[in-house]
Amino acid sequence: MTVKSFLHFILEDSACTMAFTDLKGFLHTKLGQARSMCLFDPMTHTLFQESGVGDFGGAGIQDVIETHECNLFCEGLNLSTKAVLKNTFVQQKKEYGIEAETLV
Ligand SMILES: [Zn+2]
Repeated sequence: MTVKSFLHFILEDSACTMAFTDLKGFLHTKLGQARSMCLFDPMTHTLFQESGVGDFGGAGIQDVIETHECNLFCEGLNLSTKAVLKNTFVQQKKEYGIEAETLV
């Protein structure tokens, strides 16, 4: 749930111009130190499809928004609703002249 809410945070913080997906994480524990989470293996999607191999551009961002299911961490962090993310993404595409697609 922590990783999924982090993916939501990235969408929100980038105003839906970037999405991470396939991010994995594991808890790292070392005696005498605070627990931490090590994140690895991300794929990124950017509005202009400029982050390299596996970047599916707007289609990838749209897919991340559509498949995300908010959890208690999203709510606890007071992240925007999925409807706000969808609307922001549509507005970004209009602003940058990217072909409008209908989100369901
Ligand atoms: Zn969420």
